[in-house]
Amino acid sequence: MRTAIYPGSFDPVTNGHVDIIRRASRMFERVIIVVMNNSAKRSLFSVEERVKMIETVTADAENVEVDVHGGLLIDYCIKRDIRICIRGLRAVTDFDYELQSAQTNKALSQGKVDTVFLTTSLNYSYVSSSVAKEIASYGGDVSLLVPEFVAKALHEKYRGRDHE
Ligand code: ADP
Repeated sequence: MRTAIYPGSFDPVTNGHVDIIRRASRMFERVIIVVMNNSAKRSLFSVEERVKMIETVTADAENVEVDVHGGLLIDYCIKRDIRICIRGLRAVTDFDYELQSAQTNKALSQGKVDTVFLTTSLNYSYVSSSVAKEIASYGGDVSLLVPEFVAKALHEKYRGRDHE
């Protein structure tokens, strides 16, 4: 079975992520979204919250699963014998970092793990979790950036907080 993983922080999941997930689920027999639990990165939503949100937006996609991993992505790929990693590219600014991590994963896996890049759909090219968080932190409208229930969760998080 051709399985691919789509790893990321998903803090929180955005419409840009959802678009990549939908397109990937049509290309591969099985897509595992891996929520990276990286303790060095301070996240707004807990791993459990991030997983729940992705499960909610992918509930109708039968070949999509959600998992969690802490540590090196390559260890996850080797343990589960996964050879395809999906990443999204929005603009040239993503390219340097993404190229480097694709090549690192390829080298660390002795050539077994390849990265497949999906380019962003034009209407989501400006969308990122960080921009959604920044707008929500000022009480702004994020309805074009994230699913409705995620927008609600973002506003809940920032309600009553001093601006960060
Ligand atoms: P990370 O912290 O690992 O970069 P993110 O959750 O920010 O994780 O993103 C996961 C992946 O989704 C990355 O490959 C990122 O480039 C891609 N991505 C994020 N937003 C979009 C978007 N709007 N369109 C296409 N790809 C995107």
